[in-house]
This record gives sequence, structure tokens and C-alpha cells, in this order.
Amino acid sequence: LLTVRGLRKSFGSTSVLESIDLTVARGQVLALIGPSGSGKTTILRCLNGLETADGGTITITAEVADATQVAATPGDPSLAGTAITVDFGAVKGPSDKSLAALRDRSAMVFQNYNLFPHKTVLENVLEGPVVVQRRPKAEVTAEALALLARVGLADKTDAFPFELSGGQQQRVGIVRALALRPQLLLFDEPTSSLDPELVGDVLRLIKELAIEGWTMVIVTHELEFAREVASEIAFVDGGTIVEHGDPRQVLRNPREERTRQFLHRLL
Ligand code: ATP
Repeated sequence: LLTVRGLRKSFGSTSVLESIDLTVARGQVLALIGPSGSGKTTILRCLNGLETADGGTITITAEVADATQVAATPGDPSLAGTAITVDFGAVKGPSDKSLAALRDRSAMVFQNYNLFPHKTVLENVLEGPVVVQRRPKAEVTAEALALLARVGLADKTDAFPFELSGGQQQRVGIVRALALRPQLLLFDEPTSSLDPELVGDVLRLIKELAIEGWTMVIVTHELEFAREVASEIAFVDGGTIVEHGDPRQVLRNPREERTRQFLHRLL
């Protein structure tokens, strides 16, 4: 579903991503692990079109997974059912159309939730599908209420973010991403702002989504969670993918010395 080739990104004279290659098949979960500042968040932001890379390509194929994702590609109808490639190496840069399609097909869950503080829970969820994707409000509202009920927030639809715990806010963040009906879900350290007793609920929800077949890329420091939920783990260091493979192999028996040192520091 996702193929990344030769992705490069610098901020000023600092090279942050050297040449990132990734593939994620439909229904698979890729976990990105690695030290602080290694470029993990920047990879996610490029995948979501929040950051424009300096070179390389990102391709998302248009396979439709199941009922939850049938209406994917809500944006430009002329791109429905087609693969899109964002070519950051193109002379004129990536086309606006391809970047817009990339943003439509992926949705991000942020470390600090990033909810609109002055909007209610329901309004936060409706914003993207109704205002950006221009889907009918009644249909999206029904879907949003069902999703909120599913994550145990049926009684919080009219609450404001400040009235919720961190765990509840992050569940709203996840519902907001799901309501966009993306093909690809991106999680940026989804539990690292949470109090320890709230982490479990959010991780359980993400695990359920993995079992349901959502395709996901997750940046996480929760190695046990990564081992349980990921189809593949990639260890990122210094803007490159140092090694990737089966979660058990990477975590228990890493091939590269840098991975070994990183894991050793965490244990
Ligand atoms: P962490 O685990 O701490 O979130 P990370 O692996 O996600 O780290 P990134 O956030 O991708 O790392 O950052 C990689 C490097 O890029 C860091 O050195 C960071 O300071 C730098 N960087 C990120 N965003 C910007 C920006 N907008 N302008 C300048 N430098 C940036």
C-alpha cells in the first residue's frame, strides 16, 4: 500500500533524512523505533504531507481494504481508485494534486493530541470530514458518534478537550483520524504524553485497529507494544533506517551494533 523510495529532507544545512526506503503492505503495521532526534517524526510528517521532502518518492496504491475504508479517497474524485506518487525530486517539486491526495489518504495521531481547544469533542471529529473533505454532515455525524461510542466517549461528545483526561483526548485524536477514512494511519508517539495508568487503554485501542486490518506506521518508544502489534520494526538512527525486520528478530537478535546499543540503553 505504501512505498517510499530515497526520501531525503534537510532543515537548512542539517540533513535529517538521508535516504529512506520503506514499504508497508495493506493491513501491515510498521513500527519506527530509534533515539530522540533520529528523524522518526520527520518521516511521518513527510508521509502525511505536513513536511515537504527534498527528494525521493512516496507512493500510495489505491487498494480498498474493507467496509471501513470503502469510501477512502474522499478528495479529488479523479484520483479515486488510482495509485498516487508524490515525486519530491521533480524539477518543479511535487504536484499540488499529488500532495493533496497524499494528505487525503493518510491521517495522523499526534503525541500531544493537537485537538482544537475551542471546539467540542464532536466538532473536533467533524472538522476534517465535513470542512476539508466536504462529506455530508449528517452522515459524518452518525459515523463520528458511533466511533466515539466505540472508544467509550459517548457521554463526552459535547465536552471540550480541557475537560478530558489525556487518555480520553488521545482517544478523540484517534477517532478524528479514523473519521477521515484514511488508507494509512500514522501515529507519532501516541502514548508518550500520557500518565502511565492511561497508556494501556490507548495501546489496546491501537492494537484493536491493527487486528481489524488498518495499515499503520507507528513511532513508539513502547518496545513491548511494538513487538506485539507490529508486522515489522525499523530502527532509525541518524536519518537512516539502520535495520528492519521481524519484531522479535530486531528486538531480541539485532544484526547491527547500533541497534544493539540502542536497545541495551533502554533495558
Ligand atoms: P523524538 O523521538 O525526540 O521525537 P525524532 O526521531 O522524531 O525524535 P525528528 O523530530 O524527526 O526526530 O527530528 C529530527 C531532527 O530534525 C532533529 O535534530 C530536529 O531538531 C530536527 N528538526 C525537526 N523539525 C525541524 C524544523 N522544523 N526545523 C529545524 N530542525 C528540525
